[in-house]
Amino acid sequence: MRISEILRQNRPIFSFEFFPPKTPEGEALLFRTLHELKPLRPAFVSITYGAGGSERRKTALWAKRIQEEVGLTAMAHLTCVGHTREELKAILEEYRAAGIENVMALRGDPPRGAAVFQPVEGGFRYAAELVAFIRAEFGGAFDLAGGAYPEGHPEAVSLEADLHHLKAKVEAGLDFLVTQLFFNNALYFGFLERARRVGIGVPILPGLMPITDLAQIRRFMDLCGASIPGPLLSRLERARSPEEVLEIGVEHTTRQAQELLAAGVPGLHLYTLNKSPATRRVVENLQTVLR
Ligand SMILES: Cc1cc2nc3c(=O)[nH]c(=O)nc-3n(C[C@H](O)[C@H](O)[C@H](O)COP(=O)(O)OP(=O)(O)OC[C@H]3O[C@@H](n4cnc5c(N)ncnc54)[C@H](O)[C@@H]3O)c2cc1C
Repeated sequence: MRISEILRQNRPIFSFEFFPPKTPEGEALLFRTLHELKPLRPAFVSITYGAGGSERRKTALWAKRIQEEVGLTAMAHLTCVGHTREELKAILEEYRAAGIENVMALRGDPPRGAAVFQPVEGGFRYAAELVAFIRAEFGGAFDLAGGAYPEGHPEAVSLEADLHHLKAKVEAGLDFLVTQLFFNNALYFGFLERARRVGIGVPILPGLMPITDLAQIRRFMDLCGASIPGPLLSRLERARSPEEVLEIGVEHTTRQAQELLAAGVPGLHLYTLNKSPATRRVVENLQTVLR
């Protein structure tokens, strides 16, 4: 099903993000997680695209399996990293043949250690170019989503410049946006206001992640530039067990989600790290609001 069609129903939705597993144990965990989360009836699930190597081919495979074997609508991510336009076209043809109707079109990160993104010869420098290419080559065959950054993309020279580029990306043919994770709703609300003011009209799904592991979240923050509010960080640092960290993470995300839903967001996109317990707890806490 097309995600834009789901969003047009004007009911708050929620969706889950997964990454393609690398090992048989990881595959078993993902299947278990999918079956545990399916009864919560997510509107769609999205499957990330790897930074490099053979696991990149797994995005299409998993999106297809999730649609056919699990029975959930899937969105396959795609990045420009290391690909020529011919390669991107071939991957999108594979997506279409696999029955995938929703694609998250991204630029991807520079390789570890490199400060700037370098496109390959015959490839794209920015996600907006990929979006325009997909529209030119495939017309309306896919619903297209793009990434948005409430705190600004780490490479952006300013919030204004980032917003200007985001607007161009949307105008190249995006149907909706999904944000980078954030832990302070004021960042999302401020970003939403700025986006609407410059004329970005598409739905913007806030991305949330219940913290379950402090060391892991610190690594993430370094990569994606998201910040943790001081009081939340101190509470997490004082936690005496992994269970207590999870409790704090679930409580914080639930509160964020309740406030966002009360403000009328189109839905919530939950980063799951392929595990179900924290995500399930958050969505269960919201059931009265979501139905
Ligand atoms: C919801 C979400 C899902 C993601 N999923 C994945 C995934 O599956 N796999 C993965 O590898 N990564 C993923 N990422 C990370 C993403 O690839 C990185 O954040 C990447 O650095 C930027 O990708 P983008 O598509 O947002 O880039 P762009 O929209 O191209 O923006 C990148 C930077 O370029 C700037 N820019 C854009 N256009 C111009 C221009 N014309 N001139 C000058 N500057 C410009 C922007 O301001 C920004 O600073 C995801 C991010 C989000 C938010």
